[in-house]
Amino acid sequence: MNKETALVVFSGGQDSTTCLFWAKRHFKEVYALSFLYGQKHEKEVELAREIAREAEVHFDAMDVSFIGRLGHNSLTDTTMAMDEEKPAGSYPNTFVPGRNLFFLSIAAVYARERGIQHLVTGVSQTDFSGYPDCRDSFIKSLNVTLNLAMDEQFVIHTPLMWIDKAETWALADQLGVLELVRTKTLTCYNGIPGDGCGHCPACKLRREGLERYLEIKNEELGMKNGLRIP
Ligand code: ZN
Repeated sequence: MNKETALVVFSGGQDSTTCLFWAKRHFKEVYALSFLYGQKHEKEVELAREIAREAEVHFDAMDVSFIGRLGHNSLTDTTMAMDEEKPAGSYPNTFVPGRNLFFLSIAAVYARERGIQHLVTGVSQTDFSGYPDCRDSFIKSLNVTLNLAMDEQFVIHTPLMWIDKAETWALADQLGVLELVRTKTLTCYNGIPGDGCGHCPACKLRREGLERYLEIKNEELGMKNGLRIP
């Protein structure tokens, strides 16, 4: 397997930033590709560019704003309030139908042009909303489709697929970028970087994961130092 170069679908959020550094650990050369899809917080692309610069990887941004015009969702429609909870029997209005399908398909064409075989995405099946295009079955199916569509041998990597937010923080820590991810990434639905607004679903999930991880880490440190935490 060619382990030379990988392309990361990169938003500048906690998950894709962790994936960016994961890719840096596993591949010689890394490209980060961001998408402008008409999201309310376009500064997330600027933050992504800064993180990519700090990580010393190639960076590019694609305008795919047609995605925001195709359907209604609260990430692109400024007149819509974001769902704070998942409504029973449906997806929250933060779901952008087709987003990962478009992103990964465009990323694959972009990668093919540059002779890159490996694609990395931060989707996770343990994600709270259960978006269908974050599931393992979708990614595996799309991987086959992309290979058939372009007669290529792409490999889509999903380092976060089966881990939760606490384990994602643990991975960032193992990669030596916990502080960077904590302070520089933007996950918040209200567009506030770092610890964010604190009350949107993305902030809650991120904070709960961090607290859980730090608790486990402190316990382990305590045990190593012979301290028993009651
Ligand atoms: Zn928030």
